[in-house]
Amino acid sequence: MEQIQLGSSGVTTSRIGLGTWAIGGWMWGGTDEQESIATIRAAVERGVTLIDTAPVYGFGRSEEIVGKALAADGLRARVQIATKVGINWRDGKPYRDARPARIRKEIEDSLRRLRTDFIDLYQVHWPDLETPIAETAGILEELRREGKIRVIGVSNFSPAQMSSFQAVAKLDAVQSPYNLFEREIEADVLPYARSAGLTVLSYGALCRGLLSGRMTPTTTFEGDDLRNVDPKFQGTRFREYLDAVEELKALAHRRFDHSVLALAVRWVLDQGPTIALWGARHPGQLDPIEQIEGWHLDQSARDEIDAILKRCVVHPASPEFMAPPDVRPPEAQLSGRQPV
Ligand code: NAP
Repeated sequence: MEQIQLGSSGVTTSRIGLGTWAIGGWMWGGTDEQESIATIRAAVERGVTLIDTAPVYGFGRSEEIVGKALAADGLRARVQIATKVGINWRDGKPYRDARPARIRKEIEDSLRRLRTDFIDLYQVHWPDLETPIAETAGILEELRREGKIRVIGVSNFSPAQMSSFQAVAKLDAVQSPYNLFEREIEADVLPYARSAGLTVLSYGALCRGLLSGRMTPTTTFEGDDLRNVDPKFQGTRFREYLDAVEELKALAHRRFDHSVLALAVRWVLDQGPTIALWGARHPGQLDPIEQIEGWHLDQSARDEIDAILKRCVVHPASPEFMAPPDVRPPEAQLSGRQPV
């Protein structure tokens, strides 16, 4: 398994990370605990050492399952746990809250759920526009000095926000949406990360399963699955993306004798100092891992990919629909004045 250092932190991890949002169940139509635990263990057996989670995934459920899966057989010592901070929730509705007092409490909750006494990579999940970035950065730097976290990251931050953060704390990683279909970060975050020496954790490497190659126009999603509202999975636009996947599938077979899923993950890894976060909730979904290594995309394949996207995806949609509200609800504003 290819390895990468997180920024200049000295902490090294696998370039494929297991994403565990779906394992939390919320916005993915539910979860099966035993299957989820088996998936996490299968990932480690296959050489994946980075496990990405967040408190808000299943409102604590994903972190609990990750903690349970890693508690036995010395697995905790073999992995790097990446979790997040700065999203609270009320009545099942998430909102941003990266105030220092809240973070002090949140880390203790995460450590308990994850059954560990330190977090390898601690990431601010979304910028909290109502809290000065310097305050959030300051408390994370304190936690790092106390040994509760090893590496600091941010997620969904712009270069300007990262720059403010770096004035106060040592930043080594940024997590952003990035896959063949969602390439907005190429204009700003990716060049910034390259020049500032940050590692990019690319989330949605399979574009929420679209790039797995298993979907057809009749594919449907259960319950609260976010793909029921994701604009990419609706109507004629869904057809456009599926047409692109069919052409990418043919290219992957013809040029590399691999699947479109392998092409999608390899593409992310060949884009720079990146990690591909791969969301899986069944052990078998990780079988294609062995197809990712030992080859690279050349320029002509990249050009062919770009031509396919241009031809097929006439109405592209950005991943912005996933952003939580950027203003705290009034009740949370009030409670913020109390000790949290
Ligand atoms: P993803 O990795 O692009 O796609 C996950 C989905 O792909 C799975 O739920 C599964 O769909 C499908 N899949 C995976 N392997 C497959 C296989 N071999 N064959 C067929 N289908 C397969 O999307 P993601 O989970 O949203 O993103 C990855 C991770 O990034 C998350 O788990 C999370 O850790 C992180 N993330 C972070 C943020 C952030 O704001 N920082 C936002 C989003 C995600 P089915 O459920 O249909 O089986």
